[in-house]
Amino acid sequence: MRVGLVALGLVSAGIALIVASRGKQTATTGAPALTSAAIEAPITLATPLSVASPVDVDAGAAPFVPVWRVSNLSSDTTVEISEVKVGKHKSFIAAAMAAGVSRAEARRVAKAFEDVHSLGRVRPAETLVFARQRSSGRVVAFELQSSASSVWQAREDDAHRLTATQLAFHVESRDVRTALSIDTDLSAACGAVGHDDTLVHAIDDALHGHVAASDIRAGTRLRVVATEERVEGARAGVHVDAIEYTPASGSEAKAQRVYFYARAPGGTRRGPSGYYNALGQQPYQGAFRSPVPLARVTSRFNPKRMHPVLHVVMPHNGVDFGGATGTPVYASAAGTVVSAGNAGPCGNMVELRHAGNVTTAYCHLSKFASGLHGGQHVEQRQLIGYVGQTGRVTGPHLHFIAKRGGKYIDPLALKLDGVRVLPSRDRDAFRERRATLDAALDAISLPAAGAAPADAPTDEDHLAGD
Ligand SMILES: [Zn+2]
Repeated sequence: MRVGLVALGLVSAGIALIVASRGKQTATTGAPALTSAAIEAPITLATPLSVASPVDVDAGAAPFVPVWRVSNLSSDTTVEISEVKVGKHKSFIAAAMAAGVSRAEARRVAKAFEDVHSLGRVRPAETLVFARQRSSGRVVAFELQSSASSVWQAREDDAHRLTATQLAFHVESRDVRTALSIDTDLSAACGAVGHDDTLVHAIDDALHGHVAASDIRAGTRLRVVATEERVEGARAGVHVDAIEYTPASGSEAKAQRVYFYARAPGGTRRGPSGYYNALGQQPYQGAFRSPVPLARVTSRFNPKRMHPVLHVVMPHNGVDFGGATGTPVYASAAGTVVSAGNAGPCGNMVELRHAGNVTTAYCHLSKFASGLHGGQHVEQRQLIGYVGQTGRVTGPHLHFIAKRGGKYIDPLALKLDGVRVLPSRDRDAFRERRATLDAALDAISLPAAGAAPADAPTDEDHLAGD
């Protein structure tokens, strides 16, 4: 059941599971085709700019009976609940015994699962939850949790027979219509309307390549049409269907809209899929991503920088991203950790080695991602640390360095820009979809333009060697 909803902090459970329901978003057939002029039409803002954003009400989610979970027994003092990640345990039996379950009871659970789901191939990321009767050690209930929405459960009946089944969760997708006004950063703006960083990442994905990260700053306003997936009433993921970006006044950037379009429903890989601008174009960037998603560039790479105070050439050998202390910093690309430690003027620094003789370094971190160490492989966008102001700096920011063959290069030059254009056979479907999404965007009141952008650190806040 789909329910209208404007971003409310109804449930804050941030389960990192993206369940994008792209299938239902494909264009309907039979609608009148738009003229080819429509695809080039400029964006018009149908709502007055000065109207404040109203907060809608949750129009009554469909009632549902929550699925029974092993955790329901947590108040039962006759039962002991133990949980174990499969992790390094090589088999279900070994993992169960690590959780305190006897071998005989572990076998009894495995037997109950025999025809339902093989416990012979448990994976390290899966979690096992056992509920045992304290007096006898007998397993009265058990769960194998593969993900938030994929859980198998065994439960005893009155005759102490264990029966296993896959849990059927109440899954609901809801429309999210929200307007964001950025005062400090996107994360705070999402928080202000009751959303967590799941929405920040979804917006980052939608705008990636279309809007420069440095253009998302104080005074920027966004209108967002999204679909939220809820599993058992808890938010489990969000997918941006369309987004409108209105730059801060004074910005040279132009207002623009971006739409999700996929030829094939269900998110299969056949046909084009992704975020396109009004003209059906999809800019893409190369292998490297911003280490601080959507943070603005406060100081660019400049090998001939004149120091603002000393008036001598003092190269700025990287790019600075603004960000409060504690803002997560992610690996720009997959690679190997060369080092993670104190590096003098650079403060706490992580250095990564990538393919193509490229290295990246992340300076002034307040702390490192837990357990990060030299030699470790990291994935693109894996958390490596947090913005800080260690080393020779006066304010928190990320100083991001890139080298090729050991020589400093402009980190922004790592991105190879290009534009994909929708194939002609997709144009009609795209126009229909765009019209539907435009109507949804138009219906969201844009918050009034904020006051003058807040002060942010500039070049002058740096000392030499940063
Ligand atoms: Zn710097």
